[in-house]
Amino acid sequence: MKREVAGSQLSALGSKTLKPRIGSQVTRFAAAFPAALRLCGEKCLRRLPPLTGAPIRIETVPNLRDRRGAVHAGSFLRQRRIAFNCTRTEFPRIFVHEVFHFVWLRAGNPLRRSWEALLKAELAAAARGELGWSAESHKVALATAEPRSVGRRWREYCCESFCDTGAWLYSGVSRHPEFTLAARFRARRRAWFECAIGKRELPV
Ligand SMILES: [Zn+2]
Repeated sequence: MKREVAGSQLSALGSKTLKPRIGSQVTRFAAAFPAALRLCGEKCLRRLPPLTGAPIRIETVPNLRDRRGAVHAGSFLRQRRIAFNCTRTEFPRIFVHEVFHFVWLRAGNPLRRSWEALLKAELAAAARGELGWSAESHKVALATAEPRSVGRRWREYCCESFCDTGAWLYSGVSRHPEFTLAARFRARRRAWFECAIGKRELPV
């Protein structure tokens, strides 16, 4: 016999079976991950809007490198894994930056286009500097890019500046030599994040 299921019962059932992982549960630190860094990462996660999605594995990898040489961290988006090889001092910024790579991937085109519009307005206003070396180096590469690689460079710059801005906002690091963007442009970025993201859940 078919039985009506009240809305509240339905959502209660749904919350048991379908509810995605949320907040700090989304990140799963490897057993060997240094405790001090883990505590630091968990502190950063509490500052972020709640994350939703399948677990992301957080691990340390000695001698981490990409095709250009040694790196502090690397995100493996399809494997849902972030590898670190950085100091305790640099960890908060780098950790939040890498988490934001997962946010960017799932941000959706309207949000990404809106971020691009903000950056275009900055460039039109001749804004110099950035909020991290990653974004800064991509901004420099964009300025000197050959015409055929401008599209790719632009997409890379948009992504890296989004991640560095997320790290600037949520890592708890208020001063850093790599924060070189002028105050008025920082204020616009903060306002954009408050409006576009606020405290809403972030799919990763
Ligand atoms: Zn990055």
